[in-house]
Amino acid sequence: MAYKKILPKLALVVPCYNEEAVLETTINELSQLLNEYKLKGIIDAQSFLLFVDDGSRDNTWNVLVSNSTEFINAIKLSNNVGQQYALLAGLTFVTNKVDCCVSLDADLQDDVSVLEQMLLEYKEGSQIVYGVRSSRATDKALKRGAARMFYKLMHRLGVDMIYDHADFRLLSNKVLKELQHYREVNLFLRGLFPLMGFKSSQVYYERRERKAGITKYPFRKMIQLAINGITSFSNLPLKMITYIGFAVFVGSFIISLWVLFQRFFGLTVPGWASITLPMYFLGGVQLLALGIIGEYLGKIYLETKARPRYHIDEEL
Ligand code: UDP
Ligand code: MG
Repeated sequence: MAYKKILPKLALVVPCYNEEAVLETTINELSQLLNEYKLKGIIDAQSFLLFVDDGSRDNTWNVLVSNSTEFINAIKLSNNVGQQYALLAGLTFVTNKVDCCVSLDADLQDDVSVLEQMLLEYKEGSQIVYGVRSSRATDKALKRGAARMFYKLMHRLGVDMIYDHADFRLLSNKVLKELQHYREVNLFLRGLFPLMGFKSSQVYYERRERKAGITKYPFRKMIQLAINGITSFSNLPLKMITYIGFAVFVGSFIISLWVLFQRFFGLTVPGWASITLPMYFLGGVQLLALGIIGEYLGKIYLETKARPRYHIDEEL
C-alpha cells in the first residue's frame, strides 16, 4: 500500500467591504493559487476560499454569488461591522473545518507568494505565522508616519505587538479554537495573538499597491483602530491620571505657599492671574481625566452587554 501523505486543509479568509472593483481579480488569483498548491501536493484537495462580505453597499455580494463554487465560499454579514469583526466572523466560521487558515485583504496588497513559506513554517510546528512587511514604500507618508508612531506607542505601553504586521497571518486550528474563548467586544486581533503565547514565526513580504478600488480605511478609521488598540490592551492611561493629579497637587501646594507669602508680606493686588490661571488649568486637567475615564467606562459598558459581534445573513 502506498504511503499517503497527510496534507493540511487550508482556508483563505478574506474580508470584503465595497470591493466590487477588485473582487473578480482577487477570486481568480486566489483560486488559481489554491489549485496550483493542490496540484503541487502542498495542501489538501478540500482546501477552500472564504469571503466575508462586511455589509457592502455595492455589488460585492452579487459578484460572490455568481462566482461561488464548492471551493469558493462566502458569508454575508447583515451590516458593516468593520474589518476586525468581519475577519472574526470568517475565522469563527472556518474553526474546526480546517487545519489552518490564512487571513488576507481583498485588495491583494498582501503578497500571496509567501503563502508557501507560511505553510512550510506551519509544517515545522508554528501555530501562528505572521506576515510582516519588509517595507512600506507603497504607503502615503502620512500613513507610514502614523503607523510608526502607533507601534512605538504600543511598545511603550507594554503591549506585545509584531512590528509592521497587520492581519496577514496563518493560524492553526488550535489557535482558532482558543480564539473562541476571547469574548471581548472591543476586538484588536493583532494584539491578541502574541498574547496567546503559541509557537510562532514570521515571514517577510513587500506590501504591494492596491489592485483596484480605493482604501476602505480612511484616516478616521485608522485613528479609531489605534485608540481601540491602546485602550483594549493597556490601562496605563488610567494610571497617568493619578500621576498628573499628583503633579498638579504638588504644584498647587507650592503656589499656595507663594500666594500666602504675598498675602501677608507682599503687595496684594487684585489677583486676576492667580485666580484665572488655576481655574483654566484645573478645568483642563479635570476634563482630560474625565475623558480618559469615560473611554474606559464606555468599554466596560460595551463588554458587560456582551452583544453578538456580528450577524450572518446568508451563506454560500
Ligand atoms: N474592510 C472590511 N470592512 C471595513 C473596512 C475594510 O471588511 O469596514 C476590508 C477591506 O475590504 C479589505 C481590508 O479590510 O479587504 C483592508 O482594507 P483596505 O485595503 O481598504 O485598508 P488599507 O489596506 O488601505 O489599510
Ligand atoms: Mg488595502
